[in-house]
Amino acid sequence: MFDINTRILGLVGYPLGHSISPLLHNSSIKKLGLNYIYLPFQVEEERLREAIEGLKALNFRGVNVTIPYKKKVLALLDSIDPQAARIGSVNTIVNDEGLLKGYNTDFDGLIRMIREDGNFDIKGKKVLIIGAGGTASTAGTAVLSEGASAVYLLNRNSEKAEELLKKWREDYPDAYLKAGPLEPVYYNDLMKEIDLLVDTTPVGMAPDTDAGPVIDPASLHSNMLVVDLVYNPEETSLLKAAGKAGAACLNGMGMLLYQGIESFKLWTGYEIDPEEWRKLAKSIK
Ligand code: NAP
Repeated sequence: MFDINTRILGLVGYPLGHSISPLLHNSSIKKLGLNYIYLPFQVEEERLREAIEGLKALNFRGVNVTIPYKKKVLALLDSIDPQAARIGSVNTIVNDEGLLKGYNTDFDGLIRMIREDGNFDIKGKKVLIIGAGGTASTAGTAVLSEGASAVYLLNRNSEKAEELLKKWREDYPDAYLKAGPLEPVYYNDLMKEIDLLVDTTPVGMAPDTDAGPVIDPASLHSNMLVVDLVYNPEETSLLKAAGKAGAACLNGMGMLLYQGIESFKLWTGYEIDPEEWRKLAKSIK
């Protein structure tokens, strides 16, 4: 039963389309017997400020924030966790007695997926990131904070990659960082040294599953872990090519689950077994 003590959680974005987050969070709320509810809220941009202010008025416990508001909400919050501030992106808001604090649990989700699902230690490894959008910013900060020895950033628009790199240089002045265009002549030799490739572009995502791979398949090799942050389909054209090359492969499902688990913990204090959510996510396919 819902009553005046029910704590409201949700997802704010536009457009929202189909999201599995309400199913995952509400199943854990039910299992743990908590007086919470998680709902999707599709909010148009001109009403974002009102929506975020409304979290206080309606005493929400918090929300997840998704595309296209992960950057825009920063200006609407009372405080930002230092990691989220460094990345410049918030995907989780917690309402603590009327004060809204922003966090980036995508960061934790990506690191946990690579460590636990990929069985891969980032420390001392050479990493190649493709794309220069919001998720590339999260991925770069994540691998640098985990002690990657070198980070290469390739983007279709190489100026955008340079801009992102400038930011990382300020935060990690001693790191080896290089940006370049997404061209085989630029990356073919470089790829031989790469231990971890993280694709943060939407190339190959449903419904355009025939698109890609975003990188020349001939450059991939068996001594690398290839991570594609797309999770629908389970195996993108990039992961198919990586599998053929003998590389270890991960799609983005682990990151999606772990970021939600971290958000749930921030709101409720409860730790969820990832296997529960993994089974649930598979069952609705
Ligand atoms: P974004 O800010 O729009 O950035 C997308 C990047 O991809 C841009 O740098 C863009 O290059 C590049 N790109 C787009 N289409 C391309 C193409 N056809 N060829 C080469 N490069 C292309 O998006 P985002 O927020 O970073 O999200 C990116 C992806 O990450 C999405 O697919 C999203 O679903 C996924 N994601 C997954 C999780 C998870 O939990 N698994 C979490 C967050 C995001 P230009 O700069 O040249 O335009």
